[in-house]
Amino acid sequence: MNHPSTYSGQRVVVLGLARSGVSVAKLFHKLGADVIVNDKKDRELCPEADELSALGISVLCGYHPDDLIDGRTALLVKNPGIPYSAAPVQAALARGVEVITEVEAAYWLSPAPIIGITGSNGKTTTTTLIGKLLEAAGMKPIVAGNIGLPLCEAVQEAEQDGWIVAELSSFQLKGTAAFRPQVGLLLNLAETHLDYHGDMEDYVASKRKLFANQQEGDTAVLNWDDKACREAAEGLRAAVLPFSLYERLEKGVCVEPPYSREDGAGEAQAERRIVYRADGMETAIMPVDALGIPGRHNAANALAAIAAALAAGAPAAGLAKPLEQFKGVEHRLEFVAERGGVAYYNDSKATNPTATTMSVRSLKRPIILIAGGLDRGSDYMELLPLFRGLKGLVTLGQTKNKLLKVAELAGLTNAQSVNDEKDAESTLRQAVSQAASLAEAGDIVLLSPACASWDMFASYEQRGSIFKQSAHTL
Ligand code: ADP
Repeated sequence: MNHPSTYSGQRVVVLGLARSGVSVAKLFHKLGADVIVNDKKDRELCPEADELSALGISVLCGYHPDDLIDGRTALLVKNPGIPYSAAPVQAALARGVEVITEVEAAYWLSPAPIIGITGSNGKTTTTTLIGKLLEAAGMKPIVAGNIGLPLCEAVQEAEQDGWIVAELSSFQLKGTAAFRPQVGLLLNLAETHLDYHGDMEDYVASKRKLFANQQEGDTAVLNWDDKACREAAEGLRAAVLPFSLYERLEKGVCVEPPYSREDGAGEAQAERRIVYRADGMETAIMPVDALGIPGRHNAANALAAIAAALAAGAPAAGLAKPLEQFKGVEHRLEFVAERGGVAYYNDSKATNPTATTMSVRSLKRPIILIAGGLDRGSDYMELLPLFRGLKGLVTLGQTKNKLLKVAELAGLTNAQSVNDEKDAESTLRQAVSQAASLAEAGDIVLLSPACASWDMFASYEQRGSIFKQSAHTL
């Protein structure tokens, strides 16, 4: 696309309301474009519509009009979640109208450089942590994107000497064209969201768009322990700054001594330090044990955040303190309570098997896992090795029988599903009480569903909050 101000007097269609749709619609309206906003949901379900109508923006709710995209349409800004198969998107593509997401528009307007974070898992944790590191260094970060504050709003608050720290989903990145973060991070790539992207290739291609417009002087922070991330390094114009838990890097952020991929004997005793190496120099950052967030996956997130902060110019000496103080984000391996010697952890944000695997592996006590949710068509066989090591399993949601089947194959006898109660809350409460009855003092009850929540709940936040209340009121 061109600079948003060049659409003054031209028709811009915004597809999908929600917070990012509202902010991008307002932005183009302010810049003089003729904005039409369309959402398939009924008007009663679009509380944001009135605010836009009051500004004089046309808002059409309840259906996609056949003639929404016509000869006057200069640009279509779509909500990242709307698939490319949706009729208005297809109509725009057929007419040669450019289709973008809000991220692209925000990029053009940002006075501040951008750190863009993407990956299958760990985005919110790493983004939040980078915000803390830059804050501690007095670098005026604004944390935005997929994480809450829409980027279009963030860039309007940003200052030239500050930073935008943006969490970016593959859906958002797919709709970018010129977007160029000064620092781009690709944390990892697991098979997820294939229902949207169709195949892994499209998913990987969307994530790699993060680096497509980077130039010399920009930085690509890549997970050297992940094959797909390593492959993404090929042909980049930006300087590659790798991070690794398992390899000694001559240039990059890594752990000394490195972890071994197998949980080798004696590993727990080793004192590990996080170090940054470049130009033959080694800078000690901090001991791994001093990190405020638990688990090896979170150590990887910390390495990524350190690499990004250093690439943005934060002094290495100031990083340890905020890394010690940061205790994680709600619904991500969050300690809830200890009841009768049993610890309860809420990991409702673990919406795919990789995330659940990481979380289970980072807890060192016997685990009763509560899992299950939206069925995206996978057979969940990748959970088989993990299920072998569980003490118990309670399943719920659309995938409850599939998960029980995997448990059976894993020889996990202590596995049961929950009957559907009158509503989702009662069903989850029932799951917690079944899990509690399988647990003994010293065990952990962990909600880490490996599935999205939308089969039963409005969001993973709602699912996690109900779990926490249930654990507190057992
Ligand atoms: P995202 O924003 O990408 O969904 P979050 O930081 O919200 O990631 O973490 C979501 C869940 O993913 C966590 O609860 C944890 O189970 C898992 N997770 C976090 N970091 C990683 C990582 N680096 N690798 C694998 N799984 C992770």
